[in-house]
Amino acid sequence: MTTAERLPSGAVESAAWDRAHAALVEDLWALIRIPSVNPPPADAPDGELRAARAIADRLADAGVRPEVVEGFPGRGNVGARLRGDGTGGGPLLLLSHLDVVPAPTDGWTHDPFAADVADGYVWGRGAVDMKAMIALELAVVRRLADETRAAGRDPATDPIPGLTRDVLFASTADEEAGGHQGIGWLVDHRPDWLRADGALNECGAVATTIAGTRLYPIGVAEKGFEVFRIRVRGTWGHGSMPRDDNAAVLAAEVIRRLAEPGAPRLTPVMTRFLDGAADALPAKVGEPLRVLAAGDAAGGERALDVLCDPMYSRALRALVRDTISPDVVHAGVKYNVIPGEAEIVIDCRVLPGTSADAMHADVEARLGDLADRCEIERVIGAPPVEASTDTPLYRLLERTIRDHDPDGVPLPVMVPFATDAKHTARLGVPTYGFSPLRLEPDERFLERFHGVDERVGLDALRWGLPVLYDVVRRFCG
Ligand SMILES: [Zn+2]
Repeated sequence: MTTAERLPSGAVESAAWDRAHAALVEDLWALIRIPSVNPPPADAPDGELRAARAIADRLADAGVRPEVVEGFPGRGNVGARLRGDGTGGGPLLLLSHLDVVPAPTDGWTHDPFAADVADGYVWGRGAVDMKAMIALELAVVRRLADETRAAGRDPATDPIPGLTRDVLFASTADEEAGGHQGIGWLVDHRPDWLRADGALNECGAVATTIAGTRLYPIGVAEKGFEVFRIRVRGTWGHGSMPRDDNAAVLAAEVIRRLAEPGAPRLTPVMTRFLDGAADALPAKVGEPLRVLAAGDAAGGERALDVLCDPMYSRALRALVRDTISPDVVHAGVKYNVIPGEAEIVIDCRVLPGTSADAMHADVEARLGDLADRCEIERVIGAPPVEASTDTPLYRLLERTIRDHDPDGVPLPVMVPFATDAKHTARLGVPTYGFSPLRLEPDERFLERFHGVDERVGLDALRWGLPVLYDVVRRFCG
């Protein structure tokens, strides 16, 4: 018996998958054409609600009973529950977000909201972040609903044949601004939409080809963030007579000190990722990763320089240390007035194990002799999150990737940014980045996120669909 025959998806003929794929692409096309931009523009403030309703229509067409709720006006969320017989445990949550970041049209070769299908890709804002995943999840739900109707049952009310756990579908507003008006509201008011034994979310299991080897990093952790405002006090004066304590000059030195990369610290997840990648890759690329995994700071930096593409080095550098990015700087009122105050806002991203207080202390220590001229105020923050790799769901994610791509190498990884997993963590739901796509070797996926010419490959989606279906069937079966 081949692997394909043993997989639940193997029981579905390939022509049926092709039809499901065509419907998936149609869903994605329709979703990209709804500009669910966050922050919501004044002339179209209800993009997320319209996207939620479009998805609800598609779920209803499939025979499922969706619910649309607005925690805040225009900030729609859509959810649905497919019932299992309840003997297998708590639900599996298929989680996604409806909103996208704005897309200034400069530099795009396709209109970001036209959803052109060309050259083997669907183009547009949200193609990878994350309407492709919504469409994949929707396709899996539709497949399960079809199978239920074929068995003479009603997917809106009856248990889905073969499912021992419920499957929850939730697509929510406001992720790109922290999720407080989307999933954050649901955690407080509708936790029944989200309570599950595990959740699948964006940012993971996307094929990354390095030296001819396909790695599938599965998101199991994400860094926390701490945002601080630093007010720098100088002395006001006349621009004709420069002063050393010009607040802009002092702020420049503050920024220089903050921007200096800190010492690396390897978390267990990143050690496992780097060692696993080193084992899988040719020695020329693998050895530098091993140096990095060993925590050798200087050697690691040199290794990253020779290793790879700046896109990957940037991500790896960020994943082995707490980072500080000074992102807002204000000083000055007029060309001939020496500024007596300046304001800097810094974005700190913290590893699991670094507390908010520790990050604050690090910032203060870096200021050194300038600390007494600075006032540090915490603006907002959220702790890092981690899901265990020692769970049946995580092991199943790795196994299913291997079954569908025997040459592929699934590995646990941390992501440097924040997702809605910050909110599911409040309910204790282990959340994994798992949006399976088998991308072409030269696809620059990380640069498509929030970038120009965002796109997703039709073949990559076709591969991901039975992968996601098999995970759902196996975990809930
Ligand atoms: Zn996203």
